[in-house]
Amino acid sequence: MVTIEEALNSIKSQETTSKVETKPLQEVLGLALSEDIVAPFDMPSFDNSAMDGYALCGLYLEYEIVGEVAAGDTKETALKDGEAVRIFTGAKVPASASAVMMQEKTKVQGNHLFLDEMPKAGQSIRKKGAELQKGQLVLQKGHVLNPSSLGLIGSLGLDIVKVISKPRIHMITTGNELVKPGQPKKEGQIYESNSFAIAGALEQFGFQCAQQLQVKDDFEETKKSIQKSMETCDVLIVSGGISVGDYDFVKQALEENGVQELFYKVFQKPGKPLYFGRKGNQFAFALPGNPASSLTCFFIYVLPLLQKWSGHTDLGLPWYRFPLRHDYENRFDRPSFLKARVTSDGAQILDGQGSSMIQSMALGNALAFVELGEKFKKGDLIKCKLIS
Ligand code: AMP
Ligand code: MG
Repeated sequence: MVTIEEALNSIKSQETTSKVETKPLQEVLGLALSEDIVAPFDMPSFDNSAMDGYALCGLYLEYEIVGEVAAGDTKETALKDGEAVRIFTGAKVPASASAVMMQEKTKVQGNHLFLDEMPKAGQSIRKKGAELQKGQLVLQKGHVLNPSSLGLIGSLGLDIVKVISKPRIHMITTGNELVKPGQPKKEGQIYESNSFAIAGALEQFGFQCAQQLQVKDDFEETKKSIQKSMETCDVLIVSGGISVGDYDFVKQALEENGVQELFYKVFQKPGKPLYFGRKGNQFAFALPGNPASSLTCFFIYVLPLLQKWSGHTDLGLPWYRFPLRHDYENRFDRPSFLKARVTSDGAQILDGQGSSMIQSMALGNALAFVELGEKFKKGDLIKCKLIS
């Protein structure tokens, strides 16, 4: 049995062999950069207007209007002292312009321009290089590309990006009692739900379950399906069959497939019988079958490994601290991840903390963490990870 910290250290310290891919900009959302991106030119690359208005030569209250520059015009307009041009947002500001005045603060009579207030030098001009300078580090290797990153990279004129690919993930659910939703079931059977929850959680973080197998509680069948899954996957997630029951064959079946245990059993609630192992560059998690345990273990342990494999530098969901809306005492016999709901009023620990109970998790949006025996008063800050 390991502590939560030891389990997380084991996961985060695994060496992974990342695969570099060159992809079109439209396909890199959520992927980590495999190399730094450096500005190929200044941004903006020319002085341009921040407003619809007038570009002014000299600082006065009156000007003569001598022309117009629209966004995209590439010609250079020469202005003499006391002259102005009509200009639009994003248009190239003439080199001789001193400032731009927004049109709301102007009046026009014929070709005469009158300002409501004195302009200030440089006003409403976005200067060349104000955001980025040529050669500057823009995004670092390992940065996970969000929508703004795609916009930024596109604005630098780049249409292909070198990124680290995501792992191929396979899942196996185990259990004689399991029937797929939509099928009739008999007394004593239950509907298989973990594959849906885990596939959804994978999708939530930009991963995909590429193959899902369902096996009976049978050693040979379990061993064979692990072998089949591991022919092509990078990360295998098994659900159920990892506890100490007579029908729990997963640990032995993993090990007979050459997987080496990195840890088994974590001092926590829920999710004590969690297994993590490795075979070469492949990783295997065996999650306890109880629905809340398996999802909790996904958010806390599987996610950081998938992120590490994908080249992320920040691993795992961040901790936030929220004021608790009520008193709470951890009466469980282990440090606990609790289903909670966080709103602008603070965090609330939900009813239905049993490992098999999933409704509270569906209604909640956070996992709160409490140490063994920890006591909270209403208003005390509690550590939470936001899971939806
Ligand atoms: P196990 O870890 O196999 O001992 O299973 C623990 C509990 O989780 C049992 O009540 C199982 O019926 C339930 N369970 C296991 N696998 C699943 C699954 N894929 N979907 C829903 N419940 C499951
Ligand atoms: Mg089972």
